[in-house]
Amino acid sequence: MMANQSIKNFIAVCLLIFTGSSLQAQYVSDITYPDKSAKIISDASLPNVKYGNTITTEDMKKQLFEIASDRMAGRETGYEGNVLAGEYIKSQLQSWGVKPPKGMNDYFQPIALTYTSWDKTIVKLGEKVYRNLWDFVALPGKNNEILAQTINEVHFLGYGIQDKGQKDYSGKKVKGKTILINEGEPMLNDSVYALTGTTKPSDWTLDKKIELAKKKGVSLILVVPTDIKATLNDNRRFVLSPMVELENSVGKKIDGPNVIYISSGLARDIMGESGVAGLEKARTEMAAKGKFKKLVFTPVLQLEFTKNQRLIEGRNILAFFEGSKKKNETVIVSAHYDHIGKRGDVIYYGADDNGTGTTTLLEFAEALAKAQKDNALPERNILLLWMTGEEKGLLGSQYYAEHPIIPIDQTVVDVNIDMIGRQDDKYEKKNEKYYIYTIGSDRLSTDLHKINEDINNKYSQLILDYTFNSESDPNRFYYRSDHYNFAKKGIPAIFFFSGVHKDYHQPGDTPDKIMYDKMERIGRHAFQLMWELANRPERIKVDGELKP
Ligand SMILES: [Zn+2]
Repeated sequence: MMANQSIKNFIAVCLLIFTGSSLQAQYVSDITYPDKSAKIISDASLPNVKYGNTITTEDMKKQLFEIASDRMAGRETGYEGNVLAGEYIKSQLQSWGVKPPKGMNDYFQPIALTYTSWDKTIVKLGEKVYRNLWDFVALPGKNNEILAQTINEVHFLGYGIQDKGQKDYSGKKVKGKTILINEGEPMLNDSVYALTGTTKPSDWTLDKKIELAKKKGVSLILVVPTDIKATLNDNRRFVLSPMVELENSVGKKIDGPNVIYISSGLARDIMGESGVAGLEKARTEMAAKGKFKKLVFTPVLQLEFTKNQRLIEGRNILAFFEGSKKKNETVIVSAHYDHIGKRGDVIYYGADDNGTGTTTLLEFAEALAKAQKDNALPERNILLLWMTGEEKGLLGSQYYAEHPIIPIDQTVVDVNIDMIGRQDDKYEKKNEKYYIYTIGSDRLSTDLHKINEDINNKYSQLILDYTFNSESDPNRFYYRSDHYNFAKKGIPAIFFFSGVHKDYHQPGDTPDKIMYDKMERIGRHAFQLMWELANRPERIKVDGELKP
């Protein structure tokens, strides 16, 4: 499961779209308890039951202790542990006699990834040195390199807005210049925004301001945030760990001005004493006329920003089982196998996230390999997909969705598994472990939702909790795992997840804390669902649309 912060920018865009639409989709968000009166199917002469039963707590435990071992070192994409995890999965597939997908020499789908981090971030005023993540923050992914230079001209531009009643650019020539602006927008009082005259802000987001500055030819924007501490915290990990992008983007230029957030202390130092006096005058003018004459500070501001970039090969892993009849229809079951690696010497094992999904797919591969030997595979094809780069921003699934080995229109469904081995607070308090948060099932296909409920009653008897399926879920889990990249392509997707816990993205997410019996039950449920989706006469229908 990807950290919430990673999707912050992405969500900001989405929220704009959401608030713009009056019709918000309603998705199921309650809890379905299993029908205890339903007849449980356990006849082991049925192939689905027979092969499903090969998924066992013992096997899962054995596999997960490998996947979440010291040797795999947290499986971070771009690091050795991730490569080792891939080799391990491959060795298991080979041991069960699984062949690489048709047309591929290996199980691996290579993915070019560019890692970008800062090499130097030098900001100096005279002899005074300022520090990244302390006095300022600049993101390597949002800035071009700045070769060593001295800036002697900084144009103050208020809020950097050009609108009725706020004309920060009027009368100012800023092409090729550095500007200093405040985050946010002017307020009439504590709660009323000047531009709208209401308690709602205008649409002058920072992105819009940057877009305008780009049009005006500004070369560098210094932004004073309303809350520098929050800005530093929100962006810390984007500075400390490299930014990862799909494809080879080494040396690629960002089209637009550089943007550096600076503390108000640094802003004052840039202004100097006379600048602060000038600012007072500008404020008075602004209040009276809605604009002010130009205000230019003349610091001796030395800057140098250089980057480290490296090109890495990430890998998705694919195991393909050809169906007995419907060879133009494929069911995908997916799980990401990467995690967040190490911080210093401390390993973040990622046993639950997502050693559990990785292991479950290994169990599926073993079961399907047996079925294949017995000539007992279901009618449709099944593709098991272990994805990389999930923790870097759902990159492996994005890559697969853009470079599928099965045409998108022949892909029936994605069943995604990410973290199914622990309890969250809610269910720990209830002392209940046989539950699963089910997300996305009704968004694109009512069939998928119904079939999952039906399979649950017949085989698994889990509590199906749809709380996180609600469009108003503040965690926005629907957008935080790999299935989303399939849903975006119109492929119905269902996501199984047992919730976050105190060890989520912590070194304590270790295999000894996994509830293997729970994992077996959920794993078998997903297996039965997969089998039904692959074997039922009719392909599930798409009757929903992904709301933007
Ligand atoms: Zn995660």
